Amino acid sequence: LTEEYERRTPESRRLFEEAGAVMPGGDTREVTYFDPYPTFVEEASGCTLTTADGEELLDFLNNYTQAVLGHAPPAVVEAVTERFARGNGFAAPTREATDLAERIVERTPSVESVRFANSGTEATMNAVRAAIAHTGNDHVLKLDGAFHGTHDTVLVGVTGDGRENPGIPRNVEERVSTVPFNDADALVEAFERLGDDLACFIVDPIMGNAGVIPPRHDYLETARDLTEDADTLLVFDEVMTYRLAEGGAQERYGVTPDLTAFGKFIGGGLPCGAFGGREDVMAVFDPVRGSVTHSGTFNGNPTTMAGGLATLDALDADAIDRINDLGATARDRLDEVCADADLPVQVTGDGSFFNVHFTDEEVVDAATSTTGHESSGGPTEQFFLALRNRGVFVARRGLMNVSTPMGDAEIDALVDAFEAALSDVAPAVA
Ligand code: PMP
Repeated sequence: LTEEYERRTPESRRLFEEAGAVMPGGDTREVTYFDPYPTFVEEASGCTLTTADGEELLDFLNNYTQAVLGHAPPAVVEAVTERFARGNGFAAPTREATDLAERIVERTPSVESVRFANSGTEATMNAVRAAIAHTGNDHVLKLDGAFHGTHDTVLVGVTGDGRENPGIPRNVEERVSTVPFNDADALVEAFERLGDDLACFIVDPIMGNAGVIPPRHDYLETARDLTEDADTLLVFDEVMTYRLAEGGAQERYGVTPDLTAFGKFIGGGLPCGAFGGREDVMAVFDPVRGSVTHSGTFNGNPTTMAGGLATLDALDADAIDRINDLGATARDRLDEVCADADLPVQVTGDGSFFNVHFTDEEVVDAATSTTGHESSGGPTEQFFLALRNRGVFVARRGLMNVSTPMGDAEIDALVDAFEAALSDVAPAVA
């Protein structure tokens, strides 16, 4: 498989060598790094990527769920270029940020007030900061293996890639605790132990990076009850899950958090994050009523806001239903392929995103997930390399998602490539 990959990608190899000379590791987008180098992408349109090697790949990764409308959607391109041509970035507010804030507030009943930043990382960082300021507590509870970006607090307990993180100060590690996902008893025990000291429990309602693992019945309700009883805050990281319904996973599962972090498509493909929720909590950022600092050169950038507005316009309830249905169809059909293959492999997910796990065991948390646990070259990575060689672009952790330009033909293509890739690696995984 690796030989075949290298045969297809000589220009990517050259570009990666060039990149490594001036950037450590060549690039930060490690999720699509297939040993010994990643594929460089030149451009993309709809659901097709064109690589630097001239290959055309069907994109089932969509920049880790950011490109929910596919690539270069004409309405978004038009809105962004029109806004950018009128000047961009004034160190002054513009009307577009209010418009996008209104749109998020309308769609998401738990969000009364919202602020913009530049990434999902900044969104969760500021949500946690708000929780600490509001409660006066500084202990944070999170899920074992959950990824919420790259600021210190949330990097604690990201065990997925098995690496330690010597850049996190030890005193940060001391004020973060983790619990396994979907284990209500462990959550009750953690709240008994930490309840009075907790600023918040931060949770992605579907564990995304850890393997697209949906919540068990009642798990999120239990989290809601426990946070309320302990007088602490429930923070939903909806950076990936906001695509599940107009109001995100909180609408789909009927659980109302105090604060929510947003990212990915919220800026129409330009760097963007947002965080919001209860007005009395968000007041910590109001210079008249609170004193938590949040500023940034690119916060609420008008071009980004225009991109976000055009994206939310297109991503209405009908569009969401359509991609959720396509996702359900894909999962059903991939389940059949897995069953027929008689291999220890299964598909998890909900709505328009899903993942593949090479195990027979029920996948309920980071420990039972097979995403990111194995060393390089293991069956999971081999499988996704096989899929990539067969023309479907995915991360080597396996996350896949549907974009709005897709239809039955793209699901057919995925299922065919999936079946073929499974037989490519069958001897390794059996
Ligand atoms: N939270 C979740 C659930 C994510 O999936 C990610 C990114 N994949 C982040 C936060 C961080 O977002 P960003 O990469 O924009 O900083």
